[in-house]
Order: sequence, then structure tokens, then C-alpha cells
Amino acid sequence: MATSEFVDLRSDTVTRPGGSMRRAMHDAEVGDDVFGDDPTVNRLQALLAEMLGFEAGLFMPSGTQSNLAALMTHCQRGDEVLVGQNAHAYRYEGGGVAVLGSIQPQPLENEPDGSIALDRVAGVIKPDDPHFARTRLLALENTIGGKVLPLPYQHAATGLAHERGLATHLDGARLFNAAIALGVEPCEIAAGFDSVSVCLSKGLGAPVGSVLLGTRDFIDRASRPRKMLGGGLRQAGVLAAAGIHALEHNVARLADDHANAQRLADGLRRIDVLKVDGPHTNMLFVAVPPERVAPLESFLRGRGILVMARSPALRLVTHMDVDAAGIDRATSAFAEFFARH
Ligand SMILES: *Cc1c(COP(=O)(O)O)cnc(C)c1O
Repeated sequence: MATSEFVDLRSDTVTRPGGSMRRAMHDAEVGDDVFGDDPTVNRLQALLAEMLGFEAGLFMPSGTQSNLAALMTHCQRGDEVLVGQNAHAYRYEGGGVAVLGSIQPQPLENEPDGSIALDRVAGVIKPDDPHFARTRLLALENTIGGKVLPLPYQHAATGLAHERGLATHLDGARLFNAAIALGVEPCEIAAGFDSVSVCLSKGLGAPVGSVLLGTRDFIDRASRPRKMLGGGLRQAGVLAAAGIHALEHNVARLADDHANAQRLADGLRRIDVLKVDGPHTNMLFVAVPPERVAPLESFLRGRGILVMARSPALRLVTHMDVDAAGIDRATSAFAEFFARH
């Protein structure tokens, strides 16, 4: 089976650029972006800044680098960032904040809805005293585990942070999923944050790239850590063109991914032994009896269905390369496995 025939539910990062996106990449005007000369990169940065209500943007090779460059711009060596236990920037980025940024993470428990209780946030902001790291930044993530943070919560959290003299960063890798789920403009999700990072390579379907947004001054300063981290790219317009194409064509269609996640959840709920959590935007989590996870995964693979078996639950993610027919194939394969095993 060619890999393109798989129904790949492991992540929304697995999408492949189609013909029109590849043509946009082919036709991109380019220049040396380290000199600020790439017109397509500049257009992408301006487009996202406009969409999200910021002065400026900075093209980044990955979301990991975008978060790290942002945190290194907000925080100096020995400063502290308040961040969720489950946040990507704390948990899934190799500890780069501490290792490369010399920034102390203060992880805080995420509530079941993905938020961090504000009394917890207030409770760990350190006084100005040589015993403590300087608390400089609150970092949130939306969507987190596919869940949309409520806007009133975001406003209260950023309000509290600013009142206490902290800056605020949003890891908005899937910000557009949040906007589509709430039916609001993307800039409403970004409101209240001093910086936001957005991934083009998740549900939006570009092969590469993230963009960091902030004030002109912040973005000018963030270009130094980007360079230091190896993210100064040259004729990056071929990549930025894919990002522009994604923003122009693939935002509204995220609603299809959310509908397909619902379709998958509905199908799997008919199988008694499964405990389905979600869907939350384009993700669901499915608890499977632990001894059946490995046999299930390999059975599904034999049927052309790929899933990520992350204990204690499978994570299933919908995206533009899976349609409703693919979802039904996946549901049938699950049902067949549990009818036999
Ligand atoms: C994927 C992701 C990132 C990192 O993006 P990469 O491009 O994979 O480095 C950051 N934050 C969240 C929430 C993500 O899902």
C-alpha cells in the first residue's frame, strides 16, 4: 500500500502539499531573508500580522523554534516563565527553554479544560528577592490537547499577568482551529497577548513553518535568537508561499476536520470497550484496555489505518488528507478488531 493510501490519524502534521500549493511554491519570488530581502516571506509575515492584530511577524522553521525564540526574547538568563505541565513548550520541546534559553520554567497543573487556575498563577509569581528567579512571563497554549481555552479565561489570565508586570505569550500552534470552533475572528484568540506563535504545518497543511507575531520592536529583537538557533533561512519564499497558500485556502475548511473528528467519535462510541474523550476541535482520545493497544495498532496498520498509541489513550487527529470515507474506514477497522478480539 502506498503511504498516501493510509488513513493517517497520528497527527495533523502528516499532510502533503497538493498541486496548487506546490505551484505557489514553484512560482514564489524569493530573496535572501536574512537580509530581509525575500518578498514572499515579507508578504506572509505582513499577512499574518494583519490577521492576528500585530505590528509584525517573523517566519520560523518550526513551532518549537518559534516558542523558544519568543521566550528568549521575553526572558533573560535567570528569568522565569509560568507554563502549563501539559504545554508543548514545557513538555514536548526537549527542555530547550532551560537548556538553550537559561530560563527557569515554573510548570503549573493544567485543569481538565486546559486552563491554569488563576489563583495558582498568582500564587507562584515570585517577589523581587535574590532568593528567587525573576518571574517574567506567562505562557498559555490554545488549542491545548485540542481543547479551546475560553476567551473570558484568556482575558482574565493576560489581565492578571499584565497587572503583575509579566509579559504574555500564546502558543497558538492551532490558533485557527480555536477560531473556527468558536466562530470568532482569529485576532480575537490572539487578543491580550504580547506575542503569539502560529504553526502553518499543522491543520493548515503547509509542509514547513511557523510565524511569531508581536510588536515591531519585539520582532526585531526576536530575530537575534532566531539567528542564534539556526533559523535564519535564505530564499525561504518557497516555504512562505506554501504558508500564504494555506492561509488563503485552508482556514475555513478546518471546520471539515472538526466535523470528521465528531464523525469518528460517534462511530467509536458504538464500540463498548472504548472510552472516547472528545472530539476537541480536530482531536480525540480513545482509552483502550492496555493489553490490546499494541495488537490494535498493528491490526489497524494492516487495514491501512495509522494511529498514535500514546499511553494511556490513543490520540486520533483529523486533517485535510482524511475525508469522511477515510473516517468510516477507520471506524470499521476498529469495529472489526473488537468483534474478533
Ligand atoms: C506542533 C506544536 C508545536 C511545535 O511545532 P513544530 O513545528 O513541530 O516544532 C508547538 N506547540 C504546539 C501546541 C504544537 O502542537
